[in-house]
Amino acid sequence: MEKVEKNEQQWREELSPERYEVLRRKGTERAFTGAYWDAKEDGVYRCAGCGQELFSSETKFDSGTGWPSFYEPIEGEVVDTEEDRGFLMRRTEVHCSRCGGHLGHIFEDGPQPTGKRYCINSCSLELDKGE
Ligand code: FE
Repeated sequence: MEKVEKNEQQWREELSPERYEVLRRKGTERAFTGAYWDAKEDGVYRCAGCGQELFSSETKFDSGTGWPSFYEPIEGEVVDTEEDRGFLMRRTEVHCSRCGGHLGHIFEDGPQPTGKRYCINSCSLELDKGE
């Protein structure tokens, strides 16, 4: 996989302000405001920063949180994780392995078969409905 590397100036020009804030500055969109928290369409969710395929709609579930939630990525290598010690919580941050864009966090209260909940910002994603 070829990594996508751009400087902050390039990202700022390429992304909408909202996407820049989440993908490059690890921001969080407000719950129940994004495009995909309630989406039920079939397709593949790609990284809004670089287009890499990240999550299948088949692994999406209704978490009730107001953010699109998945129990696993499309392949293990498409995301990387990192310990996030921001504020008062210790959480596991998840980002795109290709461009480094921040996606959201992983929690351990998801459904089977993985028990994981990938809690992802809508604006980090772009749904590709295919044909
Ligand atoms: Fe990416």
